[in-house]
Order: sequence, then C-alpha cells, then structure tokens
Amino acid sequence: METLLLTPTEENLLLAARALADGQLVGMPTETVYGLGADALNEAAVRSIFAAKGRPADNPLIVHVPSVEAAEPLCYIDERSRRVMAHFCPGPLTLLLPKKPIVPDVVNAGLPSVAIRIPSHPIARRLLELSGVPVAAPSANTSGKPSPTTARHVYDDLAGKLHSIVDGGECQVGLESTVLDMTREVPTVLRPGGITPDMLLAVLDEVQVADSVLRPLQKGEKALSPGMLYKHYAPKGMLSLVKGERFNVEKLIRRLYAESADMGKTVQVLAFEEHLSGYEGLNVKCIGSLAAPETVAHSLFATLRQADAEGIDVLYSEVLPPEGVGLAVMNRLSRAAGFRTLDADEEANA
Ligand code: AMP
Ligand code: MG
Repeated sequence: METLLLTPTEENLLLAARALADGQLVGMPTETVYGLGADALNEAAVRSIFAAKGRPADNPLIVHVPSVEAAEPLCYIDERSRRVMAHFCPGPLTLLLPKKPIVPDVVNAGLPSVAIRIPSHPIARRLLELSGVPVAAPSANTSGKPSPTTARHVYDDLAGKLHSIVDGGECQVGLESTVLDMTREVPTVLRPGGITPDMLLAVLDEVQVADSVLRPLQKGEKALSPGMLYKHYAPKGMLSLVKGERFNVEKLIRRLYAESADMGKTVQVLAFEEHLSGYEGLNVKCIGSLAAPETVAHSLFATLRQADAEGIDVLYSEVLPPEGVGLAVMNRLSRAAGFRTLDADEEANA
C-alpha cells in the first residue's frame, strides 16, 4: 500500500476521515505525539493497528473522541470523572473509565475499563468529527521505538502499512498523555504526562501516582498499565543516565565518553542548555532547559530518533528532578535507558 502524506486541508481531512470510517489506518497529529488511528468499533481495523506496530495484543489502546458526548456510548462517567473532564478535556489527559459492552475486547485487551481521550489538537478534532467514529490510536511508531512527534517519524516507521499520514507539524507536548485511572477509589496516575498530579488536585481531593512510574516492574508484579511492562522509547544506541551533583556528572560523563571513544564508538552527550559549556569539545546535544522541563518533553523523542539517524552507538544523558513535567520526562528517559543509571556522586567518593 502506498501511504499518502497529506497536508491538513479540509479536502484531505475528508479523505483521511473516510479512510478511517472505512476501516483503514490513518496517522494523525495530536498535541502529545502522532497517533495511529482506526475505527475503535471495527475489530478488524483495530487488529491491523497491532499488526502494523508489532504491538503485543495485551497492551490496550486509547480511544479518541471529539467530546464528552461522543464518549457516553463507550463508558460510564460518574460525577467525579465529569469534573475532571470539564476541567482538562480537550487536552493531554486520558481517563480510564468502566467500559460499556459496545467496545470490542480487542481495543482494551479484555479489561473492564476503557481509556478515553479528547485531544485538543485542531487537526485531530476535525478528523474525529468528520469520521464520525471513535478512533482507537496508540502512538504511531514501531513498538519499542521512541514515539513520533513529526509526520516524518511516522513515515520512517510505518510507510506502506497505513492509508495516510496527516502532517500537522511538530507535536507541542512531545510526550504521550497522562493516563489517569478513574476506576479506583483514589484516582491514580499510571503514566505521567503533560497534566501533572498537582494540576489534577485542582479538581480532585486526592491523586496517587503508581509507584512503578520510575522503576522497572519486579518479577511477578502485575502491571496496572500493561504498556509500562515493555522496553520502550529506546534508541538503537546504548543510553545511560548519569545522576548526581553537576560537576561530578560532567566529570563522570567526560571519563566515560573518552573510554567509549577510545573503543571506536560514536558517542553523544545529552545535556541541558544550562550545562552545555561543561561538555566543550565533545559531541553534545541540547535536550532543552533544566528550568523548563516542558522544553525537554517537547524534544526528547526527536532527539533520540536523531541519534539513531546519526548512527550514535553510546549515549550519556543528564537527568532532571522527577517533579511536575519532569516526572513524565524521567518516566520515558528511564525506560529508554532500560533503567541504566550511574551515580556520579558515588563515583566521585569511591
Ligand atoms: P499508547 O497507546 O502507546 O499511548 O499507550 C497507551 C497506554 O495506556 C499504555 O500504557 C496502556 O497500557 C494504557 N492503557 C490503555 N487502556 C488501558 C486500560 N484499560 N487499563 C490500563 N491501562 C490502559
Ligand atoms: Mg506508545
């Protein structure tokens, strides 16, 4: 199949919307990352999402709708969830809600809940309205790779496997939506994102963050959010995170860089804007500002993909405090590194 790259004209959106309603796959921009969409009520179409991505069938999908009204046939929405939706939707927030029978099991891996999101991106919204169907859409990348934040990333991973990709430019947030489980007594963040726990407290008395957010699952531990089980967001090169006091971090990264380079490896440092001067003479890439974690979120996946394109073998990255949007960044970065973290302060004291 030849995949069409579409500019977001009304005519092209109509073409893509018809393809969706017709059971085909469409790549669409959202404010978080690009999604690989299919009609959520069409089982065969949903199955083809899993096939195109190489995604395990036990990893449920998020269903996208243009409004709360359009979500009503799919799930039960209590007063508390309505309050959250009134405040944060449309936006980068996904709610897990008790599902209604109309949602086929293939969408949500047979779980009692379904994940619902109302995106704010105008192109996604128009596409959803024109198609007239709820759209199941995971990130539009090959499973395991960094999520796509441009149409080009989608094309690089999935060309030939989908009907079309609507090009909406760069995604603003750059990380996937916050996943909030509203089926539990205390609403629980299963995946951190652009909507932070502090922001949610504006309309909820209590919010929990699943404690697996910043660590690998233990053997035998059940994943609350199956997607968090798998190795994720990983570049081809070997990425390690280096934590500690700034100058210890610089010193350790400089030493490891030299060792890797001596072995003939192509090495890259991922550093904050504020610290770039500490890596003079090395191949260093700016990952945004430490003072503004949303800038790191915005460019993280594109940076990891760029490293692949440049054939980088070994990467060392600085880390930021897991607070606010920094929690979402560290959740993705830790998984991209397979949880390899080096402690520069320990090294300095050894
Ligand atoms: P992605 O489609 O790549 O954005 O990933 C969607 C995320 O939402 C994954 O981590 C899924 O495991 C999670 N998710 C979706 N639906 C459910 C559900 N019903 N219960 C628990 N987690 C879910
Ligand atoms: Mg994904």
